[in-house]
Amino acid sequence: MTHEKAQQNTNEFHVLVADDEPLMLASLSRLLSATGYRVQTARNGTEAVRSLETSPFDLVLLDLMMPGLSGHEVMDHMQEKRIDTCIIVVSGDASIESAISALRRGAYDYLRKPYEPDEILKRVQNALASRRLEVENSDMAKRLRRSEHWYRYLVNNSLDIIYTLDTEGRFTFLNQAAESILGGTKKDLLGKHYSVIVHDEDVLGVARIFNERRTGQRATRGVELRLKHTDNSRLHGLKQFVPVELNAMGMYDRNGDDQRFIGTYGVARNISDRKRVEKAIAFQAYHDLLTGLPNRSLFQDRLTQAIHQAKRDHTQLAVMFIDLDKFKFVNDSLGHVAGDKLLAALATRLRSCLREVDTLARMGGDEFVLLLPHISEAADATFIAEKILLALQQKFVIGDHELFASVSMGIALYPSDADTSEYLIQRADVAMYHAKNQGRNNYQLFNDTMDAQASGRLALVRDLRNALERDEFEVYYHPQVDASHGRIIGLEALIRWNHPIHGLLSPNSFIHLAEETGIICQIGEWVLRTVCRHAHGWREAGLPALRIAVNISPQQVQKSHFVNKFLGLLEEYQISPTLICIEITEGTIMKDVENTIPKLNKLRDEGVEIALDDFGTGYSSLSYLSKLPIHTLKVDQSFIRGMPSHAGHLSIVSAITTMAKGLQLRLVVEGVETQEELDSLVSIGCNEYQGFLFTRPLPSEKATQLLRDNHAEQHSEILKC
Ligand code: C2E
Ligand code: MG
Ligand code: MG
Repeated sequence: MTHEKAQQNTNEFHVLVADDEPLMLASLSRLLSATGYRVQTARNGTEAVRSLETSPFDLVLLDLMMPGLSGHEVMDHMQEKRIDTCIIVVSGDASIESAISALRRGAYDYLRKPYEPDEILKRVQNALASRRLEVENSDMAKRLRRSEHWYRYLVNNSLDIIYTLDTEGRFTFLNQAAESILGGTKKDLLGKHYSVIVHDEDVLGVARIFNERRTGQRATRGVELRLKHTDNSRLHGLKQFVPVELNAMGMYDRNGDDQRFIGTYGVARNISDRKRVEKAIAFQAYHDLLTGLPNRSLFQDRLTQAIHQAKRDHTQLAVMFIDLDKFKFVNDSLGHVAGDKLLAALATRLRSCLREVDTLARMGGDEFVLLLPHISEAADATFIAEKILLALQQKFVIGDHELFASVSMGIALYPSDADTSEYLIQRADVAMYHAKNQGRNNYQLFNDTMDAQASGRLALVRDLRNALERDEFEVYYHPQVDASHGRIIGLEALIRWNHPIHGLLSPNSFIHLAEETGIICQIGEWVLRTVCRHAHGWREAGLPALRIAVNISPQQVQKSHFVNKFLGLLEEYQISPTLICIEITEGTIMKDVENTIPKLNKLRDEGVEIALDDFGTGYSSLSYLSKLPIHTLKVDQSFIRGMPSHAGHLSIVSAITTMAKGLQLRLVVEGVETQEELDSLVSIGCNEYQGFLFTRPLPSEKATQLLRDNHAEQHSEILKC
């Protein structure tokens, strides 16, 4: 070691020299300073104590015999105050007792005066080297304690169970999470075999990896198993097991090339939440969220299984298709929230009519389907249908409303009606349609004649697709008349279908099919184009311009380019938008209020008249009407039937008339067939009407003739004046 290096090292140490003999003090101080130590002196015990209390020293060279506080007393004081400094006693007292008592008090070394400088330097060096070692050890121990504390903290605060097992699979350590996840106390488990906490069904299988011996890549990762909750009483049987994901590996004591298996270390993560979410997702995939019932796919599965079972057991089963009657009316008049509540309540009511083994599913909208396995005859199924009809005689209370709901049901049997799930559902559906046609609120068992009708429907859809190409459609016109002068004030365009086999078909028999299949958009465009063509022709023929009303289906309005296409067509034929009225129903608006209203506003701004068709059958709220961009209400013909003797209808139409006047809406009454009906309408202030009383809808040539006659009549009236 070079002198410089030694200097550097000694420099780090701070030494206190305490002696009452000035000469001794000076010589010791000089000697140590010359060697490079930082030296401070104390002339007596009191000074020594003060210095020790104010700054840290690595070493004290302490004289024992000092006036005031003796060296022993200084050491006692240091012990009391826990001043941890290395002490070398340098004393003139040669007695062995004195040396022993100094060493007992914690002195590192004892040196008798007079001393040899080399000797004292050697002792100081030794003391400091040992001191340094001691400090380093204590630092290390502190660091170890801190890191152990830290690991313990991490382990105990881990949300996962951390455990170790001995070579026999008995718990040697468990962290805090074991208690919170498994209940009970760690103490109960320590020393027990791991199998006591593993689900019985998992003990023989996956549980063996609990005391994994492998390490590294081959160790156990992410294995799922169930652990027992050790304190079942708290769970009241709700959750007896905790699903966990386990990672485990063997622990080895390594000694050179030798290694000895000493146990297993493992981490088990509680995956209850994940399992719950997975379960919820699986539930959602197979259930309808509104009613909690199985959905279409789960129903298909169950039905397929039930068919297999019935095939094996040579038994029968039934599928019942259930459709809520007039649900659209509830939705339109009370809103979707009430509609949803009714569906949920209906599901509960239907379920109460069933056996444990039956499956009720919601197919969507207001359609439900029921699987009745193990039936011995059709009467077993009709018995359930009767039970449902009876149960629905009780009202439903939805918010402030009391409602009665009825259903139409169709029943198909396995194996007599169909032997696959698809056909069974389809045939139950066909039977259900039949029940609807029978006036709703009833059930029908499937029979083959129904199938013929259903295939007729399919054929009609097929024909409908070709009808445009084959030019089979035609537009008829129905005049709107002002009763006060008997004059035609407008026309409604009504489509007809010249079907090659079925003859002239009214829109009621195919518009819903066209809407279901989406063909309605092309048909609607064709109608508008035809109307434009006719209007153009009438103008060319010098006939007076009359406003023509065109019926528009919801799908047409929902198309993104509806408005532009509509106005584009009018422009193409140079028809002023003010000569066109579109008739829509409240349902069309309610289907997509946000998108529909801006479109209607745009058309209205261009001058197109907007009429609400079939008014009175839908939402029909005053406050709501004032918010819509409409000009005209067309009162549904069901209100006109039976007037004037039907006082209820008369007062409804009267109220609608007053309301329309208040809102400055034009009112047209549809379906006027008799003079009495017209008279009573006129008596309550309704003058504009449409109806067979004036004429039935006319093909375009006849309509042209009518317009011509009407024009001539008006002309002669003017001349007469
Ligand atoms: P709507 O728009 O309410 O048309 C009035 C319906 O009432 C017409 O039936 C008309 O013939 C009938 N009607 C008028 N006055 C009387 C009467 O005094 N007595 C009776 N019993 N009926 C009368 P139509 O032509 O069979 O049309 C039925 C429905 O089909 C229309 O009802 C309309 O919603 C729809 N429709 C007709 N043409 C089209 C069309 O081009 N496109 C669309 N989307 N729907 C159309
Ligand atoms: Mg109409
Ligand atoms: Mg109508």
